[in-house]
Amino acid sequence: MRLSRYFLPVLKETPAEAQIVSHRLMLRAGMIKQASAGIYSWLPLGYKVLKNIENIVHEEQVRAGHIPMLMPTLQSADLWRESGRYDAYGPEMLRVRDRHDRDMLYGPTNEELITDIFRSHVSSYKDLPLTLYHIQWKFRDEIRPRFGVMRGREFLMKDGYNFDLTKEDALHAYNRHLVSYLRTYERMGLQAIPMRADSGPIGGDDTHEFLVLAETGESEVFYDSEITDLKFGDREIDYDNVDQCQAVLEEFTSRYARTDETHDQAEFAKVPADRQRTARGIEVGQIFYFGTKYSDAMGANVADADGNRVPVHMGSHGIGVSRLLGAIIEASHDDNGIIWPEGVTPFHCGIVNLRQGDEQADAACDALYASLTALGLEPLYDDRDERAGGKFATMDLIGLPWRITVGPRGLKNGVVELTSRRTGESEELPPEQAVARVA
Ligand code: ATP
Ligand code: MG
Ligand code: MG
Ligand code: MG
Repeated sequence: MRLSRYFLPVLKETPAEAQIVSHRLMLRAGMIKQASAGIYSWLPLGYKVLKNIENIVHEEQVRAGHIPMLMPTLQSADLWRESGRYDAYGPEMLRVRDRHDRDMLYGPTNEELITDIFRSHVSSYKDLPLTLYHIQWKFRDEIRPRFGVMRGREFLMKDGYNFDLTKEDALHAYNRHLVSYLRTYERMGLQAIPMRADSGPIGGDDTHEFLVLAETGESEVFYDSEITDLKFGDREIDYDNVDQCQAVLEEFTSRYARTDETHDQAEFAKVPADRQRTARGIEVGQIFYFGTKYSDAMGANVADADGNRVPVHMGSHGIGVSRLLGAIIEASHDDNGIIWPEGVTPFHCGIVNLRQGDEQADAACDALYASLTALGLEPLYDDRDERAGGKFATMDLIGLPWRITVGPRGLKNGVVELTSRRTGESEELPPEQAVARVA
């Protein structure tokens, strides 16, 4: 992409309404624009990162054997009356009435809708196990929308639902989700710690939240510092292997790690004093096993091997896709702007032309652009007729991992300058070598 043809409305001023750094940087970098309280337009740069995050989530869900689909945003109130949640959900649910006076709602979550789909089409244990998921906009009329996309009213969530014959099978599905979430967050350059959580209005016994440590997080968290040494890394896992998945659950959840909702001071005191940590965290996901709560209420039964009709065991598992942008920026920025992890960056490399209009500099930039593109990378070429300082400030703000700076002086010696956004280190190299380093 050439910046002269792109739409990147960066702001010079720091927006006064933004209280936390990720919100400020997303506004300044021209990633989002507020449409109304807690509702945002995703401008091209923000949209690109959102799509990258979505893709990682999809890839890891499919890898775990979960099946993508898409359910609507608007739902009929009737299903929610069946589960008993229409009245119970309260003012966070946006209720609308259509022209025929039918009660509808903008879905805050999808247990009812998916259970209805399941009961309409599945009637035998032979069709289990089954995990369906989608990535779709949700609406929750949050009392205090704030921090930009971090606590929006309209937000993008991946929500997945498992259907299993037995509790044992459903707990395997739970563990599969835990493993896939660990992989998902690590690919985004994040450490998200599974913490024992409270089940809240969805109801259930087993549940963990995934928290990214950050001073601006809304949850208070208590944990054994040993937990931050754990990494899933690039180990191979067979998602069908019950023991392998269970071992990962045990590894990642055996140490003390809880949010304020479930914190137990007496248990915490058993952690050696030098390893006790109190901090703040951002909830970027949650997994639940809730048994037959919805299948009982809504009649989602299957025939078991003996022909008896039994309710299916279910769980639901969410990732805050749009919130993740905020969480990643909270975890990865400096005074000059965002520092995108390679896995989610909107462009792989910036090209800064120090002397736009200079024949040699223009030709060198075009050649770099072509070689990077040929390697399947996406460069952002700042080809505007602007001063170097302004171009550098924009590149630093939008946080691409690499910048290649091209100017007549370097070209005389056959070199360009390659700069790492994360370390700030620069090196002079022949253009081909700079390209090879970025790739
Ligand atoms: P919170 O405690 O932050 O209100 P939640 O527990 O109500 O979140 P869940 O029902 O667990 O949310 O939804 C799954 C995920 O969706 C959350 O882990 C979070 O990452 C994301 N999410 C929830 N509410 C919002 C929101 N208002 N804006 C953006 N993302 C959200
Ligand atoms: Mg909530
Ligand atoms: Mg929560
Ligand atoms: Mg939650």
